[in-house]
Amino acid sequence: MKKFDYYQPQNLKEAYKLMEKLKGEALYVAGGTDVIVRIKQKMIQPEALISLRGVEELQGLKENGGLALGAGTLFREMERNESLLKRYTALHQAVSVLANPQIRNVATVGGNLCNAAPSADSAPPLLVMEAQVQLEGPGGTRTMALEDFFTGPGETSKEREEIMTRIVIPELPAKTGTAFLKIGRVSQDIAIANAAALVTMENGVCKHCRLAVGAVAPVPLRLKSIEEKVEGEKIDEGLLEEVRKMVCEAVNPISDVRSTAEYRREVSGVLVKRAIRDALTMAQA
Ligand SMILES: Cc1cc2nc3c(=O)[nH]c(=O)nc-3n(C[C@H](O)[C@H](O)[C@H](O)COP(=O)(O)OP(=O)(O)OC[C@H]3O[C@@H](n4cnc5c(N)ncnc54)[C@H](O)[C@@H]3O)c2cc1C
Repeated sequence: MKKFDYYQPQNLKEAYKLMEKLKGEALYVAGGTDVIVRIKQKMIQPEALISLRGVEELQGLKENGGLALGAGTLFREMERNESLLKRYTALHQAVSVLANPQIRNVATVGGNLCNAAPSADSAPPLLVMEAQVQLEGPGGTRTMALEDFFTGPGETSKEREEIMTRIVIPELPAKTGTAFLKIGRVSQDIAIANAAALVTMENGVCKHCRLAVGAVAPVPLRLKSIEEKVEGEKIDEGLLEEVRKMVCEAVNPISDVRSTAEYRREVSGVLVKRAIRDALTMAQA
């Protein structure tokens, strides 16, 4: 493994100023569960790593109507959070099945999003909850919808020097249920496909529906035309079957070591159908 310098800035400004100084030669690292693997596999060979672990501004979960998650929050901390379990169930379900306890003890939610794998498990639940991400760098601070953050496999709209500081989830309305489902070759593996659903019910009709899938397109994907199909309708088995077929047509998967494209296409429809069913049960509880 090629040697690299290691920096441990103590605040945001120090971190992005360092990145500015080191130009294209450095990479931010949080938990390192993606970065170090890629260095060991010689996929990347940075001259320097800038650790974000000592940056206090990136830590913690705060409830203020919605939920503000520091980008440096560990999955283990999220898994243990009571309000995530009760109010943001799909996200809690996703982080509880992500990798294994050893990885969850060091991996961060910001790292999962900035790594921008199409299979990132935190992405579908955050997409259906219409999360916003905050970025900070030499050019100032900006906020964007998570949906606009992903631009391709491993690619985002983040500038090199920018640091993701926070993920903000708006307050979810009453009678809302959310659910996340994932299928992998074995438990703890990266998803073959994953899916999340959010439904808000009013007088037996779906008032609000948000759907997202992962590992079946170049980016984690919102399924807007299918959401529109569900809104204003009673959710019954006939509608769910139509949704399943529409999802299979909407996705654009590839074949790789984990799965064929055909299997991904079929299973994504089933996962979305079941996720809506689970979210509906929760919304009616
Ligand atoms: C054995 C194993 C199993 C895994 N299983 C899963 C799984 O089931 N599901 C899943 O989704 N992932 C899985 N992963 C991938 C990985 O653990 C996650 O993507 C994790 O969330 C990455 O977080 P991290 O803090 O370790 O990121 P790092 O590796 O530190 O960083 C990842 C990327 O994000 C950038 N970055 C990190 N934080 C910031 C920030 N705040 N601002 C700007 N850029 C930043 C880094 O520069 C780098 O490009 C697995 C990995 C391993 C090794």
